[in-house]
Amino acid sequence: MILILLGPPGAGKGTQAKLLASEFKVPHVSTGDMFRDHKARGTPIGRKVQSIMDAGGLVTDDVTNEMVKERLGRPDVANGFILDGYPRTAAQAQYLDLLLHSLGRQITRCLSYEVAEEVLVERMSGRRSCPKCGTVYHVSQNPPKRDGFCDRDDTGLVQRDDDKPETVRKRLQEYRSKTEPLRQFYRDRHLLTEIEGVGTPDGILAVTKKALGR
Ligand code: ADP
Repeated sequence: MILILLGPPGAGKGTQAKLLASEFKVPHVSTGDMFRDHKARGTPIGRKVQSIMDAGGLVTDDVTNEMVKERLGRPDVANGFILDGYPRTAAQAQYLDLLLHSLGRQITRCLSYEVAEEVLVERMSGRRSCPKCGTVYHVSQNPPKRDGFCDRDDTGLVQRDDDKPETVRKRLQEYRSKTEPLRQFYRDRHLLTEIEGVGTPDGILAVTKKALGR
């Protein structure tokens, strides 16, 4: 099971990716999470991508492709994986094709989550996450039991640096110009399934599973 999740920032890819990963018992490979981890650890990659990410831009294809190649070389992806946030440019999609080909593997499906722009901005500005376990909340739509603290481990919730309104607009622009064209790329390969990303996470998961015939 190799799934690619497409969709604008805030469409709920990360949430669905986590649910799908536990459903199909395969790793969730999120380039956004990997870059955030590099940033937090202050690695050379982290220092390189920090300012780009905080401004809502895209990390260069070379750095991103190299990181994904290393990740997909690990043994835990043997039964499949859920790609979240990659590929994001035509060059990345082409690189992924060659990489999978060289590994003798094939994409099962590309799921594209569609959500109206106004909803995206609202969702991202209210998004908060637990820095310890990664659980994602929304101040009004999916609030934690105790305001500002994680239900699982009681850690104080934080807002991502790039969820600030001006950065959100830049990320949406980047998506429209560079990532949205990939829908056509996967449609041409008969791999694309479009899913309306509106509803509860479990409801959207059910629609996704049905689309996958599961
Ligand atoms: P979202 O989908 O909500 O924008 P992500 O967590 O997927 O957030 O990504 C956060 C940031 O990490 C992006 O805005 C970008 O700077 C960087 N990033 C993640 N994946 C890629 C990628 N495939 N190519 C380039 N930059 C990326």
